[in-house]
Amino acid sequence: MRKRNAVNDSCLTCVRCGNKNTIFRNAGYKKSDGHIKDIWCFKCKDKTPHEEQKNDYGLWSEQ
Ligand SMILES: [Zn+2]
Repeated sequence: MRKRNAVNDSCLTCVRCGNKNTIFRNAGYKKSDGHIKDIWCFKCKDKTPHEEQKNDYGLWSEQ
C-alpha cells in the first residue's frame, strides 16, 4: 500500500554562500533541525557544510 507522504523534502542552506538547496529524502530519514550535512554546492563548486532546516509547508511560509 502506498502513502503519499513517502518523500519528505528538506531545505539545506550552504553555510558558505547561503545558497538554498532542496533535497528529497525517504520518510524513514529522521530529520533534525539545524543538522549540518556536507553536500555539493553548485555555486561554490565544492562540497560544503549545509544547514538543514525544516521545510514544512505552512509552518515555514514566513521565511
Ligand atoms: Zn555554497
